[in-house]
Amino acid sequence: MKNIDLSGKKALVTGGSQGIGAEICMQLAQCGADVFINYNTSRDKAEELAKEIRGRHGVNVTYGGANVSNAKEVEAMFLQMDDEMGAIDILVNNAGCESVVHVLDMEEKDWDRVVDVNLKGPFLCAQQAGQRMENSGGGVIINISSIHDVVPRKGLIHYCSAKAGLKMFSKCLSLELADKNIRVISIAPGAIETNMNREEIAKFGKDKFENWIPQGRIGEVADVAHTVVFMASDLAGYINGADIYVDGAYMNHTIQYDPRPKRKKE
Ligand code: NAP
Repeated sequence: MKNIDLSGKKALVTGGSQGIGAEICMQLAQCGADVFINYNTSRDKAEELAKEIRGRHGVNVTYGGANVSNAKEVEAMFLQMDDEMGAIDILVNNAGCESVVHVLDMEEKDWDRVVDVNLKGPFLCAQQAGQRMENSGGGVIINISSIHDVVPRKGLIHYCSAKAGLKMFSKCLSLELADKNIRVISIAPGAIETNMNREEIAKFGKDKFENWIPQGRIGEVADVAHTVVFMASDLAGYINGADIYVDGAYMNHTIQYDPRPKRKKE
């Protein structure tokens, strides 16, 4: 991504200390952006990552704790960013969580946690960022959704509902912020190997999992991070309110009992 120049831009990535978020921080920095890494519980990982990014790319990196579903903590985080970075040009709402529970066993706290982190968090952060971007002349807000914003899955009714809400949230937000020169993009990964699903992939077997994905491989964190970097850049300046699926065609592969027709030469 060497040709994308984000020098001078200031980015905040929620849930930035591990998984997809950490790679997004790294790739934004590689393109020259200063980065604010948000963490909830993984402070040590945020500190370590900040050191690594500074060492590799020489940009300004800072980090701050906040539970994205808590309005007071979110506001305090943005005030910290005001003090330490002075502005925000790019917000990546990446923080997310899930748990696999049958709907008939799901407790109110399971539902609330997953919906609050995946849907309310992006609202709270987008509001804080949007107010600042309105005053500074523009920016980009990227929401990390999931193929489960349209693909239903058993045991994930709270997560699928929250991500479906996030998809519509992105569209409404783009309408309200377009005249302020703020673009909003939804980036929806398929299966990307991280702590969120490592056990699940191992349980099914990696080979089997990869057979379900038409491109024949599980996604890497860089697949998502590269998309974020492009969408955050001026090269994507007329893309607004769009949903981008980064999934190797996984979400289109619902008819799995029907094998690929063989080519005549095979
Ligand atoms: P991960 O490795 O489990 O990381 C999740 C991140 O979210 C962590 O950094 C965590 O921070 C943060 N987080 C959780 N609750 C939070 C809260 N209340 N406040 C602030 N941060 C919080 O998961 P991942 O796979 O990288 O997922 C990143 C995003 O991609 C999520 O939105 C997820 O839904 C989406 N996604 C992932 C996949 C996949 O296959 N992996 C597929 C589709 C979509 P702490 O560690 O500091 O607590």
